[in-house]
Amino acid sequence: MNRLDVAVLGATGAVGQRFIQLLADHPWFRVAEVAASERSAGKTYAEAVRWVLPGAPPPDVAGLTVLPLDAAFRSPIVMSALPGEVAKTLEPELAARGHVVSSNTSSHRMAPDVPLLLPEFNADHIRLIETQRKNRGWTSGALVTMSNCTLVAVVAALAPLMDFGVEKVHVVSMQALSGAGYPGVPSFDIADNVIPYIGGEEDKVETEPKKILGSPNGAGIDHAPMLISASCNRVAVLDGHTVSVSVGFARPPSPETIREAWEHFEGHEMARGLPSAPQRPIFYNPANDRPQPRLDRDAGRGMSTTIGRLRPCALLDVKFIALSHNTIRGAAGGAIFNAELVAAQGYIPGFNPVLATASASA
Ligand code: NAP
Repeated sequence: MNRLDVAVLGATGAVGQRFIQLLADHPWFRVAEVAASERSAGKTYAEAVRWVLPGAPPPDVAGLTVLPLDAAFRSPIVMSALPGEVAKTLEPELAARGHVVSSNTSSHRMAPDVPLLLPEFNADHIRLIETQRKNRGWTSGALVTMSNCTLVAVVAALAPLMDFGVEKVHVVSMQALSGAGYPGVPSFDIADNVIPYIGGEEDKVETEPKKILGSPNGAGIDHAPMLISASCNRVAVLDGHTVSVSVGFARPPSPETIREAWEHFEGHEMARGLPSAPQRPIFYNPANDRPQPRLDRDAGRGMSTTIGRLRPCALLDVKFIALSHNTIRGAAGGAIFNAELVAAQGYIPGFNPVLATASASA
């Protein structure tokens, strides 16, 4: 009774399906509307989707009729997993009509008044909603964004180390196939192969962390002043993006200090206890052959980052490997987490998280 209705846009795609899966038993949210392209509109969700996750779509969603994007959505929350060019005008329009839009797309991430959130690392950036509403004349609507999926593991590793003056970061990614959506990269191109180019990815990995790890200044975010260089590669892994990272610091900490900072990191206090918050945002695995996508991507229900192989770097100070699940923490799970933060911080009139949680567990 107390759950908030959610519309999922792009519900038939790789990220859309994760939304449907993760929202099936959500204590605060309930999928009430699904939308996709003209190809799918008018069909039931079960007819329109080529379900690529284990099991089948939840029965209450399977029977929903897929709406076109120009439908008059009535859900207070909209989760967007649309292609960027489609989302660009639609997402602000929906926010202007009073919806809280939690987006996965890159279209608005770097706008100065749009929170780019990974709540366990920068939940306080949510306050930008106040600037956004003032700037844009929105009353109950808002637009918050989830970051690019590849940089989640990079930000997770850097966030607990920012006090040591992170100056230079070199990232080489090994990115899963699901990151390209469905059907994604043709099997003939990727089997027995590595593709050393992912359009637009390196720019996102080099810019978004500076905003995420930046400091709120009352009207926007002062970006963290570090240099990042990224090389992004597609590999024949289904889920889970792995990054090989080297970091240079102004005041290099010892390896023991770095491991302790990771192992004791609890996440931002505003994010703790939210339904999608991982109990431990970061795991350090000391084995010399971890993390691996197949073995580690589901850590913390797919919401935790696993780090390993911390060692000295001959060029910068230290290097390590980090891994996070791209369609869960890096996309749908992250956008749900962001919407939970918006709801918990009182930006959705009439929603009471305490009552919703009590009602879900009754
Ligand atoms: P996808 O598998 O290709 O799914 C795209 C979805 O958008 C489908 O539901 C599709 O509906 C719908 N769509 C496509 N063109 C449309 C149009 N013109 N009008 C209305 N709906 C349209 O892509 P994805 O991987 O889920 O990615 C979705 C978004 O999330 C993208 O912006 C992507 O950059 C971002 N993202 C993805 C990941 C990832 O790991 N995959 C991670 C982070 C962010 P039909 O089925 O009807 O065609």
